[in-house]
Amino acid sequence: MTCERCNGLMVREQICDLQGRSSLCVDGYRCLLCGDLVDALILENRRRSIASVEPILFTSPRIPRLVPA
Ligand SMILES: [Zn+2]
Repeated sequence: MTCERCNGLMVREQICDLQGRSSLCVDGYRCLLCGDLVDALILENRRRSIASVEPILFTSPRIPRLVPA
């Protein structure tokens, strides 16, 4: 696996959320070059957002129609 930022080598690592109250530890990846952290949840969220955003853009455009009623 390579880093999306710098294309560096990413190593598998246990990431623990020490800042939050929950002592949640997840499997993730850390970039050896820039130190970017990617955990399984982030990867899952990225996949979901990529998969869900496109259909939403197609079905419900944000720009309202300017045609007067
Ligand atoms: Zn990197």
